Amino acid sequence: MTPDHNDLWFLPLGGAGEIGMNLNLYGHDGQWLMVDCGVTFPKPGRIAADGTVHHRGEPPVQMADPAFIADRRDKLAGLIITHAHEDHIGAVPYLWPLLQCPVYTSRFTAEILRRKLAEFDLLHRVPIIEVDTGERRQIGTFNVQWLALTHSIPDPNALMIRTRIGNIFHSGDWKLDDNPLVGHGYTTSTFTDLAEEGVAAMVCDSTNATVQGHSVSEAALHEGLRDLIAVAEGRVIVTCFGSNIARLHTLASIARETGRYMGLLGRSLVNMSGAAKATGLWPGSDKLISPAHLGYLPRHEVLGVATGSQGEPRTALRRLAQGSHPDFELEAGDTVIFSARAIPGNEEAIEALISQLRKLGVIVITAEDAGVPIHASGHPAQDELKAMYRWVQPRIAIPVHGEAEHMDVHADLAKGAGVPRAMVGRNGDLFMVRPVPGIRRQVVETGRLGWQKQELVRVY
Ligand SMILES: [Zn+2]
Ligand SMILES: [Zn+2]
Repeated sequence: MTPDHNDLWFLPLGGAGEIGMNLNLYGHDGQWLMVDCGVTFPKPGRIAADGTVHHRGEPPVQMADPAFIADRRDKLAGLIITHAHEDHIGAVPYLWPLLQCPVYTSRFTAEILRRKLAEFDLLHRVPIIEVDTGERRQIGTFNVQWLALTHSIPDPNALMIRTRIGNIFHSGDWKLDDNPLVGHGYTTSTFTDLAEEGVAAMVCDSTNATVQGHSVSEAALHEGLRDLIAVAEGRVIVTCFGSNIARLHTLASIARETGRYMGLLGRSLVNMSGAAKATGLWPGSDKLISPAHLGYLPRHEVLGVATGSQGEPRTALRRLAQGSHPDFELEAGDTVIFSARAIPGNEEAIEALISQLRKLGVIVITAEDAGVPIHASGHPAQDELKAMYRWVQPRIAIPVHGEAEHMDVHADLAKGAGVPRAMVGRNGDLFMVRPVPGIRRQVVETGRLGWQKQELVRVY
């Protein structure tokens, strides 16, 4: 199966019909372009087809089976990573040896990728090409432009993929945040200009397509978090995703305002803040102290930011709840704030963590019961989706990055916003954008690979 010069195809191998392990392919004129290469974290206790039960310790990491494109890697022009979230970047160290293509990405994402590749001894083998926002690159037969959008991590980009027979707008993960605090914002004219040029199809994020209204801006969280932290009497620990540098910036400002010292607890927070510093995205005024010093400070001067908002084993917050953290112990009257939402499937683990903390006498505040916004999603709600469709005016909407329900609602929204046609499918379906729009179902066998005992195995 090879696209000829009249074909413009979209073929998802992962991430269509699920949230996680994104792996998208575009095909034209004998070549393929891959966009994103992510992982997913299966629920502990789930039984794989090979009979392995995943529990005890860390669940094995899983990713889309790239067999289709690995078999044609001489036709793969390149891999683009839209941003540094695990569901977009996490599989590169595992799958790159099967692909062997150049990797194009923005600066912060490249920094995260280099840190990952170093752990796999691949750093000097993978060609990484750093691209600035707004820049265009010719990648094989595809001319790709990086477009500034906002999300919950620095340096997210949408892509305009141009070919001789039509253009595709690939949104990546996004929201419309007028005050993202860290990194670039977005400009409406970027997207209205695309409409003038003509967009054959828009492949777009469905995560929050069932949510009404507009996502909350990162800047809007400052007041609520500050009010909660200002009245706390003991230590305050905030748990959030380490990659949300804007959230860390908000917390560092609040630490200054409330007379506390901020320290980061957990490997991913230290790694992400290090990458932000290395790429000029860490505000110089945001001071951190070593977590080892937090234990010696008066309790009312401590603001810890900890990994583990999803109740994951062996993270900093779990260790604090168990009294096994090396730096200090939580006491009655200390406060833990969840500045994150529960990812579906993690509710039980989070509940168990919260009850462990409450047994210590710790005051627990979650995003649901805070009474003020203390967490903002990084994905577009319905008003943002409608706005983007009105700006870009694609001929076809292709919802991805969601479960079936999200993608169906998204397709209806797109049509409501004036898009003539929506195509909804799942991994392995071939979306033909040119010459005649349509879907061929399950033309490619898809699957999942897992990483166990230092090798890739087929899990189902
Ligand atoms: Zn993301
Ligand atoms: Zn994502």
